[in-house]
Amino acid sequence: MVEEDGMDLEEEEEEDYRSESRRKASTVFSVIASVLSGFLGNWACFKVSEMLNVPSQAFPAAGSQQRVAPAGQSRNKVVLKPGHSLLDWIRLTKSGQDLTGLRGRLIEVTEDELKKHNTKKDCWTCIRGMVYNLSAYMDFHPGGEEELMRAAGIDSTDLFDEVHRWVNYESMLKECLVGRMAVKPSPALQGLSAPPSLRPEPLSAPLPAKDHRPRYDWFQTDGTVNIVVYTKRKIPSAGCAVVDLQDDNLRVEMLLGRMSYLLYWRLSSRVQDHVDVQTAHSVGKVQLCLRKSVKEKWTQLGQSLEHHDTFIQCKDRGLFYRECVLLSKTDVTHNTQLLRLQLPPGSRMQVPVGRHVYLKTSVQGTDVVKPYTAVDQMLIPPSQSSAEVGSDIHLMIKVYPDGVLTPHIANLPIGASLSVGGPEGSLTLRVLRDVTHLYMLAAGTGFTPMARLIRLALQEFTVIRKMKLMFFNRQERDILWQSQLDELCTKEERFEVQHVLSEPADSWTGRRGRIDACMLQNFLERPENSKCLVCVCGPAGFTESAVQLVRQLDFSEEELHVFQA
Ligand code: NAD
Repeated sequence: MVEEDGMDLEEEEEEDYRSESRRKASTVFSVIASVLSGFLGNWACFKVSEMLNVPSQAFPAAGSQQRVAPAGQSRNKVVLKPGHSLLDWIRLTKSGQDLTGLRGRLIEVTEDELKKHNTKKDCWTCIRGMVYNLSAYMDFHPGGEEELMRAAGIDSTDLFDEVHRWVNYESMLKECLVGRMAVKPSPALQGLSAPPSLRPEPLSAPLPAKDHRPRYDWFQTDGTVNIVVYTKRKIPSAGCAVVDLQDDNLRVEMLLGRMSYLLYWRLSSRVQDHVDVQTAHSVGKVQLCLRKSVKEKWTQLGQSLEHHDTFIQCKDRGLFYRECVLLSKTDVTHNTQLLRLQLPPGSRMQVPVGRHVYLKTSVQGTDVVKPYTAVDQMLIPPSQSSAEVGSDIHLMIKVYPDGVLTPHIANLPIGASLSVGGPEGSLTLRVLRDVTHLYMLAAGTGFTPMARLIRLALQEFTVIRKMKLMFFNRQERDILWQSQLDELCTKEERFEVQHVLSEPADSWTGRRGRIDACMLQNFLERPENSKCLVCVCGPAGFTESAVQLVRQLDFSEEELHVFQA
């Protein structure tokens, strides 16, 4: 049984979040520090998202296709006109065309000026203090013009972060840069008191009875430095620690449900590359062992770096990238490969089940970033695995010939390096608590989050009596890990798979077509005293139909989990 079971993690996380907010509020200096961290590059500009007081829920509109959907809601992309792909956009940005209307000049933009540029043909927006002219990008925006227009003439930092903060807008929009926001005189800088919007709230709410915040300690021996993190909750077997030792900087992030605890130092002295991570799952303790390069006594662990010892929601934590090496590529189908990436020697990462990482690469000088759900090497683990836990990541990647990133990845030679960010994702294992019937509706590569879910559920969730996957593909040759799925069906009584093909050969004797009510009616059975969970992942159109149909069958929002990156 997974160790999260039996704990009310959701309540704990809410409490963690509230207590962290209060803790933060108790010191003006930490607020000022976060304001100062909003200064960008050499341009000392104030964090204008706070200055402009943008209503945080304005973009995208409620019910908009671009909004990161709560469980059960899907998000759509619009069909872009021919000649408006990401690659076409990259080409346009390299064409030398003046995309700002300022002929390369950079200007300082006041709030009043920003507000004036609010039409499709003249659309400016501000993200983290920088102002961009989005007019040329209008027809290239995968979320459509209407969505983009919600950012017109305002500071859209919060709105942007809410929808897709992982998109590398600085690189994508560099030719659209108009300039920076003019700095408002700030009381924080003049009199060292926080500006009104950042003033801490009074501590009226009582402090929580128990401090749920993780804490850490360290000790040393002649040759080692050991850091012990007490997470104060049970840790799932899949782990929770993401460790990155880069030069002398040690970054340790604990992913605890929806919360993230970060430790970040510039170490006092040099250590060897390799970090050893031991997790005591049931007591919630993670111990890191670093080997000193020189056997001498350390008087302190190091100097704290940005956001050290903070405990915030994962979605509010910035993405961290590390350079991985492509170790192998194995064909899964005619157009899908399994990539094995090796983390740098100082990094350890176990991507939690159902979460994704980001691959970032430069295509014609523009950074392109895409999310990919991590999988295991196989559906069923071999009895002996040679890979060291947490040192490799496996990604199943379908190569789209007209894509920007995937053909580039497919052509990478073994040994090439790839920048990997994250992990991120919304699945927390508490959704599986007490579930007796797990249903998975997957289409195409939407199978990838299900692959680890199946394995985890089989290995650790003994309460689950039935696990059924309905797997939608175009043709038989597109079915990912078909033989492994068939093998699992014969081995595991609890597991069942049904394949549905939308473009089958005449010889196909199985189900045909796209998802419909009739298919789901019998598949999603609800026996007495059962607790069901339906997980959905696939192309946007599929996800939307699946969610609608599942709702029509009276499954509640709590009984539905939609994977979205
Ligand atoms: P695909 O185009 O080959 O389609 C697979 C099947 O999906 C089709 O056979 C059909 O049955 C169904 N389908 C497609 N469009 C549909 C529609 N409009 N309505 C109903 N059914 C439809 O799939 P692919 O190329 O493998 O794409 C998989 C998608 O899954 C990608 O969009 C990818 O981004 C997404 N995905 C998301 C996550 C995540 O969010 N965590 C993870 C992996 C994949």
